[in-house]
Amino acid sequence: MLGPALLAASRSPRVRHVVSTSPVSRSLVDRFVAGEAAPDALAAVRALAARGLLVTIDHLGEDTTERAQAEATRDAYVALLVRLADEGLAGSAEVSLKLSALGQALPGEGGRLALDNARAICEGAAAAGTTVTLDMEDHTTVDSTLSILAALRSDFPWVGAVVQSALFRTEADVRDLAHPGSRVRLVKGAYREPRTVAHVRKAEVDEAYRRCLAVLFAEGAYPMVASHDQTMIDEAIRLAALHGRGEDAYELQMLYGIRTAEQDRQVAAGRRMRVYLPYGQDWYGYFMRRLAERPANVGFFLRGLIAR
Ligand code: FAD
Repeated sequence: MLGPALLAASRSPRVRHVVSTSPVSRSLVDRFVAGEAAPDALAAVRALAARGLLVTIDHLGEDTTERAQAEATRDAYVALLVRLADEGLAGSAEVSLKLSALGQALPGEGGRLALDNARAICEGAAAAGTTVTLDMEDHTTVDSTLSILAALRSDFPWVGAVVQSALFRTEADVRDLAHPGSRVRLVKGAYREPRTVAHVRKAEVDEAYRRCLAVLFAEGAYPMVASHDQTMIDEAIRLAALHGRGEDAYELQMLYGIRTAEQDRQVAAGRRMRVYLPYGQDWYGYFMRRLAERPANVGFFLRGLIAR
């Protein structure tokens, strides 16, 4: 129960202030976030690529309410893609976008603005020779995100989707998205959702995850199996064998700093493993979701606070 409570508390400005200014946060943030600037991210990409890992880079930021900020995020991505190409890293790294960082929530024009900004990033990715995946945020954004995905895919069919097994609607969305060539990242879901739209019990989220995996592997989609849960990873490997898929016909994904030994083990076994690598100054929302996912992380954080 700690997770939902923590996600709720993370909306409080007071909690945000305490967490953002605590030196304890900094040391734990470094475990999950590559650094604040593009050179930090590029150095981390090089280190991950040297271990045989693929990467998807997230320029941290979300819930933007200003057009200028959304455009600055777009420009940061475009500049990063140029550097990935210049440094010969575009074969190892793609980018992940949060549409709320690109203006999606701006009243009236938000959807249009996010689409235009995402399109500019897709053009940068195409020029660099890499791909883009649209992260999925809370349930209120799913319709808008899927319609922006469809618009982008008409020019850039390689744009990846993300679906969350926690949401009731996702099994239908997966059936729509599972066609050949469609890159689909399946996650459990990191947001606190009302019980009217989402499974509450972990066992239900896990069962839905398995059902979605089965559809993605059975149909022609390119599944991106994003989970640290060994049961889900083993199930994906079993389904790949069942459907005669080679190691280049799906990939496993994990977050930076989580289960790194397992990441290396999968690479050693010849599988594709992609690491989701966040960087940037706006780490608060991302960090709080990582704390909420695992009570042990909260314990570590609180012990650090008390020890000071
Ligand atoms: P869980 O059952 O939560 O965890 C299984 C095991 O993994 C745990 O027992 C623990 O050992 C380990 N573990 C899990 N989380 C942590 C942690 N924070 N710290 C340390 N150990 C941990 N969610 C979205 O809503 N939208 C997205 O776009 C999105 N993109 C993602 C991209 C990638 C590549 C990944 C890996 C996750 C993404 N997520 C996203 C987060 C996801 O929804 C889950 O919240 C998160 O992955 C935890 O679920 P799990 O599948 O790992 O399983």
